[in-house]
Amino acid sequence: MTDLIPLIDSHCHIVLSNFEEDREEVASRWRSSGVKSLLHACIEPSEIPAIKSLADQFKELRYSVGVHPLDIQCWNLETIEILRNAALDDSRVVAIGELGLDLFKADNLDDQLTVLLPQLKLANELDLPIIVHCRDAAKEMLEVFNNLSSEGSCPKGVMHCWSGNSYEMEGFLDLGFYISFSGNITFSKSTDIHECAKEVPSNRFLIETDSPFLSPVPNRGKRNEPSYVKFVAEKIADLRGDTFFEVAQRSTSNARRLFGLP
Ligand SMILES: [Zn+2]
Repeated sequence: MTDLIPLIDSHCHIVLSNFEEDREEVASRWRSSGVKSLLHACIEPSEIPAIKSLADQFKELRYSVGVHPLDIQCWNLETIEILRNAALDDSRVVAIGELGLDLFKADNLDDQLTVLLPQLKLANELDLPIIVHCRDAAKEMLEVFNNLSSEGSCPKGVMHCWSGNSYEMEGFLDLGFYISFSGNITFSKSTDIHECAKEVPSNRFLIETDSPFLSPVPNRGKRNEPSYVKFVAEKIADLRGDTFFEVAQRSTSNARRLFGLP
């Protein structure tokens, strides 16, 4: 009966060309899986017009605007103004991101910070939550947020596609962040993530697909899509000893609280 329980995919990228051929069918599958709303993440500003027209096409879609830490070559002096205007121009922009630090695929920390800090300031200015991409950079990310927090200016937001350990999770929870679990939680080797899913408070976690990436078991290795968010919810229920209904209900109300989603 899982199809009757409302789910939210709090992070997807269906603007990407992997979905060009069959977006309507993908949408009908998320609808029949109970996905009531989706948050589309933005990687860099040239995507914004296309994401915006997806929001026209699919009424349950909301989106963020921002620059990903692995796309900082897209940043220039005008970018912050473009992001600000996009956010002010459309009430369906509910977050700034995805932004953050990635020291797994890159080692240009200073350059990444140059792109990150103005976006955090913008989130504060517009009073919007942030979507944080953080890979192999928890220590550096916590330092940035702790500094802002000591000045009373750390934005609220979510640690998307959580892949850290419990100790790191505590640091982000203490700062008020939500933790979002994605398809990698279904992988048997993800023992740190499993531990985090057991420990996270029930009012502080979200679920997402990060489609088309990181498809959960049983579809690992294939293109991911928003309907598969149910597999993430099932795995969390299994780990926590909760019912699917409880996980769906909590993650949905948490996502609505953080992002004001329908
Ligand atoms: Zn993403």
